Amino acid sequence: MKNVFFTDFHSTPRKNLFKKIEMLLNKAGIEEKIKKNDITAVKIHFGEMGNHSFIRPVFVKKIIEYVKKIGGKPFLTDTTTLYTGSRTDAVSHIETAIKNGFAYSVVNVPIIIADGLRGNASSSVIINKEIFKEVSIAHEIVNADAIVALTHFTGHELSGFGGAIKNIGMGCATRKGKLEQHSNVSPFVKKSKCVGCKKCIEWCRYGAISIVDKKAQINSELCVGCGECILTCPENAIMINWNETSPVFQKKMAEYAFGVIKGKENSSLFVNFLNNITSHCDCYPMSDKTIIEDIGILASSDPVAIDQASIDLINKATKKDLFREIYPNIDYTYQLIHGEKIALGKRMYKIIKVE
Ligand code: SF4
Ligand code: SF4
Repeated sequence: MKNVFFTDFHSTPRKNLFKKIEMLLNKAGIEEKIKKNDITAVKIHFGEMGNHSFIRPVFVKKIIEYVKKIGGKPFLTDTTTLYTGSRTDAVSHIETAIKNGFAYSVVNVPIIIADGLRGNASSSVIINKEIFKEVSIAHEIVNADAIVALTHFTGHELSGFGGAIKNIGMGCATRKGKLEQHSNVSPFVKKSKCVGCKKCIEWCRYGAISIVDKKAQINSELCVGCGECILTCPENAIMINWNETSPVFQKKMAEYAFGVIKGKENSSLFVNFLNNITSHCDCYPMSDKTIIEDIGILASSDPVAIDQASIDLINKATKKDLFREIYPNIDYTYQLIHGEKIALGKRMYKIIKVE
């Protein structure tokens, strides 16, 4: 059974949230994870341009300060995206991060995009798991001494929810790694809804969509499963066969997460923020209204335990299986079950309140 430390958002003038974050990190054992002069990758999602529900920079600053206080050398990091957007290459990604509030003058730490200028700076990590024998991880993640993964917990259309497993599994993969995780997920066009406007064709950078008999058609040989066309279609005509593909996607994500922390099992810490929770992830260029009241912040050395605890807290607060209700065809437990199976972490946990 793994320990998951938890603090809620209640605060007082004497014990504000910044103080509580410090207490949470301390209880979660950050001082044993990060040694003096450890170059520490603080993995975060900076948010797509237009999104505003990502973790607030002032909270990140507090965590950075703590890492520095105990002797670590932190850098803020993420990787380039597979889809076309405001974080497709390192230049636009850093610009987006700064515009979203992560300027050096705010967070007091440099930003390094871990998979290089165009998402191909990789290190192969041998994992010998069920699907992958080796995985393609962003070079500067592998190069770092320690990882602190800060995760904004949200819903997700392919995995039900996106937590710590997704933040590192997908978020620390190179472009090749992301493509490998997505490649079996081919959407399809519901012909009765398609009006042949071609908007999806303009969006698809892989040339996977064409018009046949006035209706869009996706070539699964060319499609990488980035899911972008689903967002762009004004008629909601592009769909994914969730039942077939989501379990594999989640398993792949868990195996990639294993590759990210391989060799850093004792120098990784996970922090999940359960606030501003939306039905979709921060990759969207917008933030819809939140779907639940803010719950709190969790910290653990185990990415499976912290995600299990996060989803349990959300379901307890809403008295229902919230993300299952939003994405009825997605069984999000695959990432947790497979994560435990491959020794990424444990689903059994003990919540320890930090007050
Ligand atoms: S068809 Fe859609 S999911 Fe496939 S590559 Fe093109 S945009 Fe991405
Ligand atoms: S964007 Fe939607 S409606 Fe337009 S062509 Fe593509 S699938 Fe059809």
